[in-house]
Amino acid sequence: MPEHQTLEQISLEAKSPFELRVNLGRNESDSSVRAAIASGDVGFLHSFTTGSTVDGPGVRVVAWTSGCLWRCVYCHNPDTWNMRNGMPVPIERAVEELHKYRFGLKIMSGGFTLSGGEPLMQHRFAVKLFTQAKAMGIHTALDTNGYLGYRLTDEDLEKIDLVLLDIKTWDRERHRRLTGMDVAPVLGFAQHLAARKKPIWLRFVLVPGLTDDPHDIARIAGFASGLGNVERVDVLPFHQMGRFKWKQLGMDYTLENVEPPLAEAVEKACAQFRAVGLKTF
Ligand code: SF4
Repeated sequence: MPEHQTLEQISLEAKSPFELRVNLGRNESDSSVRAAIASGDVGFLHSFTTGSTVDGPGVRVVAWTSGCLWRCVYCHNPDTWNMRNGMPVPIERAVEELHKYRFGLKIMSGGFTLSGGEPLMQHRFAVKLFTQAKAMGIHTALDTNGYLGYRLTDEDLEKIDLVLLDIKTWDRERHRRLTGMDVAPVLGFAQHLAARKKPIWLRFVLVPGLTDDPHDIARIAGFASGLGNVERVDVLPFHQMGRFKWKQLGMDYTLENVEPPLAEAVEKACAQFRAVGLKTF
């Protein structure tokens, strides 16, 4: 947060998640962060954005949480890794924000998506917000890497209409290299959602040289088609829109010279998912 600005002067709404936001929660003590996580009464948010057409069906309002345990080498929002970079937002204020859009979202067959960062770092806040959104008749979607999916009870899952689940890569070693974490809990969460017939939109970021191994993609596609609850697959071409954040945060960015994939490569990956009966867009 710029020294001369107070939290009240910073808009909760950002033009896009690509706005660099840091230190908004810097005045929060460790104990107040822990209390917020435990109660879910306060969430740490990068921002709200409106008008998204890529984060679930229809037009979406998206709340971007801060806090993530992963360290993806191609993360385009590394400012969301640290929870204290987000703004502490009381649940009532977040609900108020959603309330403003409730009619518009219904007219545009859209809804509310909670993304990040990793929203399940603050799962109690997430569930409270989803519960309130459902009470307003708003469609709800959780955009997650799935690693902390075990935190959600069956009752919690009832408040979530759709899960946008990222699978980064199949190979365990490669997954560790790319994210710093194990892929097994992600796959376990996908199976848990399948057992409960909770719809998934699978997201797969295609990064040339890192995630474009056709054998790897075939394993993900085979797994996803066997689940029975994957409604669609979004193959997302890697881009460099987050590069400036790595630089401004003084972080070592290793993908400086990686170009976005060619349209043919994206189509080839899509074709692998379609070949096992999944829909791609
Ligand atoms: S899981 Fe998402 S927010 Fe976390 S590091 Fe990876 S890309 Fe970034």
